[in-house]
Amino acid sequence: MIGNERAALADSLWTATAGASPLCPDLEGTAQADVAVIGGGYTGLSAALHLAERGIKAALLEAESPGWGASGRNGGQVNPGLKEPPAEIEARLGASGQALVRFAGSAPDLVFGLIARHGIDCAPHRPGALRVAQNARALDALKAQAHDWRRRGAPVEMLDAAGTARLLGTEAYVGGLLDRRGGNLHPLDYALGLAHAAQAAGARLYGDSRALAVERRGDGYSIRTARGSLRAGRVLLCTNGYTDGLWPGLAQSVVPVVSVQVATEPLPPGVAETILPEGHSPSDMRRLLLYFRRTPDGRFVMGGRGAWSDRGLRRAMQALRRASGALYPALRGVRWDFAWGGQVALTADRVPHLHRLDQGAMAALGYNGRGVALATAMGAQLAQWAAGDPEDALVVPVTPLQPVAFHRFHKLGVTLAGARYAALDRLGL
Ligand SMILES: Cc1cc2nc3c(=O)[nH]c(=O)nc-3n(C[C@H](O)[C@H](O)[C@H](O)COP(=O)(O)OP(=O)(O)OC[C@H]3O[C@@H](n4cnc5c(N)ncnc54)[C@H](O)[C@@H]3O)c2cc1C
Repeated sequence: MIGNERAALADSLWTATAGASPLCPDLEGTAQADVAVIGGGYTGLSAALHLAERGIKAALLEAESPGWGASGRNGGQVNPGLKEPPAEIEARLGASGQALVRFAGSAPDLVFGLIARHGIDCAPHRPGALRVAQNARALDALKAQAHDWRRRGAPVEMLDAAGTARLLGTEAYVGGLLDRRGGNLHPLDYALGLAHAAQAAGARLYGDSRALAVERRGDGYSIRTARGSLRAGRVLLCTNGYTDGLWPGLAQSVVPVVSVQVATEPLPPGVAETILPEGHSPSDMRRLLLYFRRTPDGRFVMGGRGAWSDRGLRRAMQALRRASGALYPALRGVRWDFAWGGQVALTADRVPHLHRLDQGAMAALGYNGRGVALATAMGAQLAQWAAGDPEDALVVPVTPLQPVAFHRFHKLGVTLAGARYAALDRLGL
């Protein structure tokens, strides 16, 4: 169970298997900090940690507990790069696109570096990120991506059908792209590890402390919670797919989408080793992509697009179980122990955003479902700015806040787009 969450999304394997959470009291009375961080996922925790390491007093307000949002529920894939291939981003965004591509390509180094430096116990494994093609058309797209990345010096290689089948343990895919920069981890343990590290470095973390209002006070800000208030010179908003109405216009700049996962019981000996034998965590090239992995305790986990209604969620989860059995017939009779999900944030241009909201306020969000590495890296960017570095010293361009068109109808839009994508996927287009 994940705290204050819809039952249909709350039955998380990661919550059931995570280590100890740090003690995070709720904010009572008045507190003061140099920087207030709102949201306790990877973005906020990374920002708080990087600030504290620079000797800056950071206080983080989390509505629930650290890692409660997508950071504690995701697939644990540490993916290099952005949603779109490098050439497309660079063609669209020019020099800032090139910087963004480099930034996203190196984000896994930051994640695995933090894990090593702080001794975070989150089952890190770095066999490379594996993207697999379900048909010849998808394979062509992967080949173009591999060419793109190789030209930029990235350690990527194409795998033929046999090589892909060897890493997957199924012959369902026709080829793959292995990017040595990526890997996987236990997502909630990684979030909790960042939280412990931030506290050890001197950051204060408050749980059960939703920020209800942010007001300008002199040359700083006052942030109100149910039982207290926090005064700070700068404010960082790190609420991604759970962004509420706290800052006008921020929620309208992204489209929240539900992603779900299902996990089996620990697989019997003899079965577990045949599936993803080297511990890769692939995702495929469908528009509504499937992503899957094994866990250190030998469970199989499958993820994909969710839905807004409980009925839609149940159907999505059942479809994932069926897809797992189709890929790996050995899974057909197994027990499915967990089913859960969470919200990611999509942006209209499919790249993450840094928005300067006010003189002393900045937000980072919109990882398009790839936030394990990106959110960690964006948190570091926020920290750099809040510590006093000028905006133009940041790698990620700071852009104006812009509403997504027809945002009011986003649930309908996502549902209709999902149906269209599913049809195109079925046709192999
Ligand atoms: C099912 C699923 C699978 C995914 N799989 C992958 C994957 O394998 N690889 C990958 O790279 N990415 C994956 N993602 C995406 C990734 O998890 C996210 O991009 C990333 O965790 C975002 O981190 P964040 O800190 O920005 O946001 P979150 O972790 O969502 O944290 C936001 C936090 O803000 C808090 N909050 C909101 N409003 C307030 C307020 N007013 N006051 C205080 N706190 C507030 C929320 O409680 C929440 O804890 C997945 C996501 C989901 C849901």
